[in-house]
Amino acid sequence: MLTSSQRQLLRVISEAGPLSRTEMASMLGLSKAAMSGIARDLIDLGVLHETETVYGQGRPSILLDLHPECAFFVGISLLEDPAPMILSDLNGRIIARQAIPLSRDPKVIAEAITEGLPRLLESHPEAVEKLSGIGMALSGFVDETQANCVQSTLLNWQDVPLARIIRERSGVETFIENDAKAVAVSEKLFGSAREIQNFSVVSLGDGIGCAHFIDGKLYRGNHGGAGEIAHCTIEPGGVPCRCGKRGCLDTVASMKAIKEMSRAEGLECTSLSDIENEASTGNAAAIRILHRAGSALGLAIANLIQINDPGLILITHVEGSFDGLFGTVVNQAVETNVLPRYAGQTPIRIKRVDGDVWAQGAASIAAHNFLIGPNSN
Ligand SMILES: [Zn+2]
Repeated sequence: MLTSSQRQLLRVISEAGPLSRTEMASMLGLSKAAMSGIARDLIDLGVLHETETVYGQGRPSILLDLHPECAFFVGISLLEDPAPMILSDLNGRIIARQAIPLSRDPKVIAEAITEGLPRLLESHPEAVEKLSGIGMALSGFVDETQANCVQSTLLNWQDVPLARIIRERSGVETFIENDAKAVAVSEKLFGSAREIQNFSVVSLGDGIGCAHFIDGKLYRGNHGGAGEIAHCTIEPGGVPCRCGKRGCLDTVASMKAIKEMSRAEGLECTSLSDIENEASTGNAAAIRILHRAGSALGLAIANLIQINDPGLILITHVEGSFDGLFGTVVNQAVETNVLPRYAGQTPIRIKRVDGDVWAQGAASIAAHNFLIGPNSN
């Protein structure tokens, strides 16, 4: 178990990258002697290692960074069947992968994980002893302890203590998280948002997910539902949504909605790229659909900027590209709907992600708890 000052140091390094002992001491307000003691203990534990020597004015200094192989994590995505299960190191690098059958019965999931673990670890004996946690990503609400699924429509769950069930069966510390929040944590720990304190991730797939980091911490709100832009009403009185409301963003701008609209218009398109191709040849229905979806998503993002004033909006998407009409309309709608003084001030970064994104996000939840401690999102 790491001490709180050790964890403070790990948090600083995970945000700022390799640092010298002098830099760490000044960032944490500690004396150089105290800092050296903490660093020495973490080197002895194998958590930190010395990387390069930097020569500047005065004495050369040695940089310290997290040792990527000091701990390993399992990440499981409960968003598809079979459920991807990956093994990652402390840098978020995937070193092995398996899949387990998805079930709505938590005990069956626990059994499948316990059976899958030896297969996942078999070529990686170094990870067996250093396995430090299991993380799981799911669609739904998760409580602030990252232990209980408060509600999941996809899995038909209500108040399921999933982490405890998995931990009891597998013997490994387990944390669960909402899918979009898991991706945001992964981007904060390992990705492009490492040094950014305030940012939002908008994940565009069959559904739309969203999560926010505020002051360097994941913001989940009172009931774990903060950031659910998917179910913000964007077209009052519009199409019925699976959540029970009408006109939610999800009914207009999710990949599922875009494809349904294109089917309803008689277009033979099975992907966003197909619809973009039709639009580029002047097909009026395809242009209309991409305008409607892009405007809705852009408006929701503009509202997000207006409310939170983030330092970055990161849009992750699993298919298509943002180079076509859809992406152009999204950007235009953002610029049109934010206060003029915000226009162009919030960087919007687009990131194409592959199918590993959810399992990797799940593993990052376990890594985050290892580095920074439980409940300190
Ligand atoms: Zn809805």
